[in-house]
Amino acid sequence: MFVLSSPSGAGKSALSRRLLEVEPALAMSVSVTTRTPRPGEVDGVHYHFIDRARFEAMAANGELLEWAPVFDHHYGTPRGPVEAALAGGRDVLFDIDWQGTQQLRESVGDDLVTVFVLPPSAAELERRLHTRAQDSDEVIRKRMSKAAGELSHWAEYDYVIVNDAFEAAFASLRAILAAERLKRERQTGLTDFVRGLIRDLEPAG
Ligand code: GDP
Ligand code: ADP
Ligand code: 5GP
Repeated sequence: MFVLSSPSGAGKSALSRRLLEVEPALAMSVSVTTRTPRPGEVDGVHYHFIDRARFEAMAANGELLEWAPVFDHHYGTPRGPVEAALAGGRDVLFDIDWQGTQQLRESVGDDLVTVFVLPPSAAELERRLHTRAQDSDEVIRKRMSKAAGELSHWAEYDYVIVNDAFEAAFASLRAILAAERLKRERQTGLTDFVRGLIRDLEPAG
């Protein structure tokens, strides 16, 4: 389970989109949210857009792996698709805030890799929120005012990437995924292979 968090506008969605293009064994966790779609956002692709009653029913029924209020709305991770992807041997990418990350860490424990994305500067963060051109000035003001709060959780993450030059940030993100997949404890399929090697290499007798 591969988690990205950042202040809004630092580049999680752009990095995620790019990573999914080149990593077929990675599945995106599509969250439910009570916020309304931005121009160009597709229901079922970027989010499942649902109303508050449905959200509360899902939370009450245990259908959410984690959920949290973020910027006046509710966001949550549907449990079923994540469990199905993991059971099918795929890794799962999450774009969630610090509250959701803490909940995942409590519920799934060790098999979680977390990455915090930093903007190169406050001014650039604000510029990106404006150039994304999908939120009103009021919404952007609110997101900027919450940026420091999200940032204050950066030290709870395993890795930190400054998203200045996009290609360099993307290369770092991909390197983290590659290294984490190579961890011995994740390469469970190699146990029999190594046992066989040892048997073949051991001096006879
Ligand atoms: P606000 O209306 O955006 O300020 O939302 P709050 O986060 O303050 O939530 C209002 C109330 O709804 C609180 O009592 C929450 O505990 C409750 N609530 C929020 N989300 C959920 C949910 O997903 N499930 C359930 N069962 N209760 C929720
Ligand atoms: P988040 O998902 O973290 O809220 P986005 O991925 O939507 O942020 O990025 C916000 C805006 O900044 C988008 O328009 C995106 O294309 C742009 N962006 C992302 N990374 C960079 C970068 N390294 N340099 C310049 N612009 C970027
Ligand atoms: P946006 O409205 O820009 O798509 O997302 C706003 C914030 O909500 C981002 O910080 C994003 O990571 C977070 N978020 C999106 N989906 C979820 C989710 O399922 N759970 C939690 N906890 N946060 C989420």
